[in-house]
Order: sequence, then structure tokens, then C-alpha cells
Amino acid sequence: MKVVTWNINGIRTFRGGIKKALDSLDADVICVQETKVTRDLLNERTAIVDGYNSYFSFSRGRSGYSGVATYCKDSATPFAAEEGLTGLLTNHEGAVGCYGDQAEFCSEELQLLDNEGRAVITQHRIMCQEKEQSVAVINVYCPRADPEKPERKQFKLQFYKLLQCRAEAVLKDGSHVIVLGDVNTSHRPIDHCDPSDIDDFDGNPGRKWLNGFLHGVRQEVERHEEEPDEESEVTSSDSSRRGKFVDTFRYFHPTRTNAFTCWSTLTGARQTNYGTRIDYIFADCQLAKEQFVAADIMPEVEGSDHCPVWGQLRCSLLPSSKPPPLCTRYLPEFAGKQQKLSRFFVKVDQKSSQSDQRDALPGSQEEEELRENLNPFGAGNISSKKRLITSDSVVPKGKKAKTVKTSSKPQGSLLSFFKPKPTNVAHSTEAPVRQCEKTLDEVTSSQKSQKSSSTTNDVSLISSSAPEETEPVFDGSPQLCISTTTEENDRQMKAERLTPQPTVAHSAAKKGASLVFWKSVLHGPPPPPSCKVHGEPCVLRTVKKEGPNMGKQFFVCARPQGHASNPDARCNFFAWVDKGK
Ligand code: ZN
Repeated sequence: MKVVTWNINGIRTFRGGIKKALDSLDADVICVQETKVTRDLLNERTAIVDGYNSYFSFSRGRSGYSGVATYCKDSATPFAAEEGLTGLLTNHEGAVGCYGDQAEFCSEELQLLDNEGRAVITQHRIMCQEKEQSVAVINVYCPRADPEKPERKQFKLQFYKLLQCRAEAVLKDGSHVIVLGDVNTSHRPIDHCDPSDIDDFDGNPGRKWLNGFLHGVRQEVERHEEEPDEESEVTSSDSSRRGKFVDTFRYFHPTRTNAFTCWSTLTGARQTNYGTRIDYIFADCQLAKEQFVAADIMPEVEGSDHCPVWGQLRCSLLPSSKPPPLCTRYLPEFAGKQQKLSRFFVKVDQKSSQSDQRDALPGSQEEEELRENLNPFGAGNISSKKRLITSDSVVPKGKKAKTVKTSSKPQGSLLSFFKPKPTNVAHSTEAPVRQCEKTLDEVTSSQKSQKSSSTTNDVSLISSSAPEETEPVFDGSPQLCISTTTEENDRQMKAERLTPQPTVAHSAAKKGASLVFWKSVLHGPPPPPSCKVHGEPCVLRTVKKEGPNMGKQFFVCARPQGHASNPDARCNFFAWVDKGK
């Protein structure tokens, strides 16, 4: 049995042909996160793939946001499948069950935690040493704690707790458990490109949670020392405090450094391998020890800002004769019958306990209906007002951000993202940078830009094209939301707005000279300065984040981001564009 997890950062990563992509990954169970597929966007090509059966979880809040999907080979058809961790989305046969003690969560909280399409569980029969057992594969996309939204920190931690509660309950019931996905926290300093850059690395609540969830924080020690006695482990007083899961990658590669699964796309950090390991395959201790034979990351696979991770087990799968009801092939829109969708929703709601709670919650009835129509499985029972506060799934995104994001993503064929990119810096810099360089050639004058006292070390460059749910590389530093602008476009805009008036255009000599003149007089964008360390033209960026600096432009080194000790990586050159005169 082989499992793969991959945050694909949008199903369009599979645009080269979803079957081809899945086949290339060559696994029995393929779990993908951040599909950005919501029910309204799901199409048949994505849902129904020849040779596979698939299970989706959709965000109920915002279209095109979050979402996970599990694709199982027909030879790995699960006997149970379920969306979400709470059981609230489950109103059908063939569920996995075992929800654990949810006493510490209030009902509204539980609904919110399952409202963003972050978990799918499939449960499979396996043969382990001629003994039939079962394994639940919990595919999760854990929330990212946006530093801008303190309430999301709590949301993230509650999601972790709920995940642990569920995983341990299923395990306790006698099934093996694999938890895999984008966990959005790098566990230990070895899993982070620059842990020293983060204040109180070990104090991070997500890391603390991982320490408790995982068995043996120092697997490299445990593995090379004598194995703990199984009997005493079970009976010892601290066994309840000991984590029940193993990070399978670290189990096989306890000391491997620079093993990252996620890199910022904006800063080109993949070229310098300046990343984090936040995508994992966790397995219960027994399964890890007895069945896992290998696990590794696949940094050579491109197409997303994350790379896939795989795990190989010794056991074989026993396919169920028929997929469980959650399987997408049973969705009415793909079942051949042109059922009215609304009928389908009503049916779900009648069975769901959620309909009872709906009346108790404030919210516009009209909005409720609208949302129900958009979100078939209900969960429209949470007031939009509340969700605005606690969930960022409904916060609208600027159109600009989307455009930038799309344009900066590699979109080539499957082949193009399965082969490694050349490590040529100039090649991989994004188009705006190249245009910037061209502009430099054209411009002969050198209007001096004023240098600010700050450096890039003080400013975190998280642009709208940066991965939305990626642990920021610069934890804890003030964040600027920026995006690359093309100086070319900017200049054209300026030129259109600020056509020189004849009265002012005194002795404009040659065309080129006047261009330079007008550029300086009319505050056109100055040519990019060269960075101090590399002496190379900088790239112009614009502050996109709302605040006092919004719209301000600045220059940074055009090289990809990397560790401070890497001479080929971005230097700390930073200069505001001075438009004040
Ligand atoms: Zn530089």
C-alpha cells in the first residue's frame, strides 16, 4: 500500500490531465489539499477519474477556497468514507464513526471547524501478515494562523485538538490510523530553513501540540537506542501523555536536513531551498513500526508551492466491492439523472441535526437560503455574521490578488511540473523583473531613490501571490503585503495621465532626453537601483496591504529568497521609491 499527500494549491495543478497526474504519483491513496474546489465548482472531470474513486470535502463559506480530496485506486476502494472531523456533516451510511469526546467544543465551534472543507476520512481494509485489519486515512488541510487575524490562532489550535480527538478515537476503536496532509506547522528546527529567525520557536502553540500528538519528540534518539518495552509502555503512568503517532518521514530520516515541502513562490525560495516541512504522513506507532517500509518527500515534483510526500506500507489493500456513499460518483450531478439540486439539499437537511439548530442561530433567512443553494450539504446554518468574525473563509479577496496569483503560478503541462526547474536565477525570476531590467537599459539617467533605514530583514514580503495557507517564512516579523508591479505598465499609466503640456515642455531636446526629463519632473518611476551585494538591478514592488504604506513602492534585490548565509540568495537591500518631489 502506498499513500501520497500533496497540497496542490488549486486543482488546476492537474490541468495537464488529472488521471495522468494521479497515475504518475503511483499510489493507492492520493490525498490532496487546497483543491480550491467548492461544490459549485466541482466538475465531472475532476470528480470522476477512470480507475479511481474520489471523496471531497468542500468549504461552505467561500467559493474556490480550501478543500481536500482523496482519490483511491479502484483496487483501494474504502469501505467507509466521511467528510469532516466532527460527524456533523455525516448523515449517510458508510461513515467511519468514532468521534471521541467533543465535550470541550461547543456545537457552534464544531460546525465552524468543519465548515471550511479541511478533512476527508477514508477507511480501508488491509492485510497485515495474513490478518485482516483496517486503516483510516485522515486527509487534513490544517488552518494557517494568519498573523493579521489573531482569532485564527485559536481556530488553528482547536482544529488540531479536534483532529487529535478524532484520530485517537478511531485508533482506540481498533483501526489503524494515518493522518496526512498540510499541517501548516514545521515541527522542529530541522524542519525549518531559518528557525533562529523565529522568536520562541519551541514556544509556538502548534509545535507544542505536535510534541504532544507525536510519539517521541526525538525519534533519532529512540530509534538508535533500545526500543521501549511495549508492555511497560502501555501500562506506564505517562503513556497517556505520550503521543500516539509517528512522523513517518522523520522515522526513516531522523537527521536529514533541508528536507522541505513548502516554499514561498513570491520570493523564489524554492531555488535556494529556503522552505519548511509542513506536509506530513503521521501513522499510529504500531503501523509505523510494523507496516511502513519507507517514506520520503518529492521536492522534484513541481506545479504547486508544496511538494508531494509519500509513504510505502508492507500491507496490501482489500478493496471494498462498492464505494461508500460519500463517493463523488453518487453526487446527483454526476449520477446521470438530472435531479434537481434543491431536492438533494432538502433531503440532506431533513436527516441532519443541523436543521434543528438553525433556528437558534441569528442570521438572515435569505442568506441562509442562498447559501444552502450554493452549499448542498447544509452547514448554511451558521450566521454569516459570526463567520465573519471567526472564520476567514468568507472574507472577500481582492480581484487583483487573484489575478496576480494566477499569473505567477506555473501553469504548464503535467510534464513541465514533474521535471525539475533549471536553477538559473534569471530564468526563474518572474516576468516583471525581466521587464524591469529592460527598463533599466532604456533609461539613461539615474534618479536616485532614497534609501530607507529598514532592510528586508525588517519587512516580510508576503504578497498576494504568496501561498495563502503557507507558514510564513518570516514568522513574527511585521508583514508587508506586496506584489510585484511591472515598471513598464506603471510608466505607461503615468505617461497617459501626465502628458507634458507644451508650456512646460520648454527646450525638450531629443526624444530620449525629454523622456528622462519628464520622468524626473513628473515623478515617474525611477530606474531600479542596484543592490549592494550583487550589484544587480533591483525589482520594484508595491505595498498592497492596507495601512499607511499602502501603494508605496520599494526596491528589493531581485534574487530568490534564501538563507542569510547563502551568497546566491536575495541580499537585504531595501529602498523606498521616493515620490515626494
Ligand atoms: Zn542582491
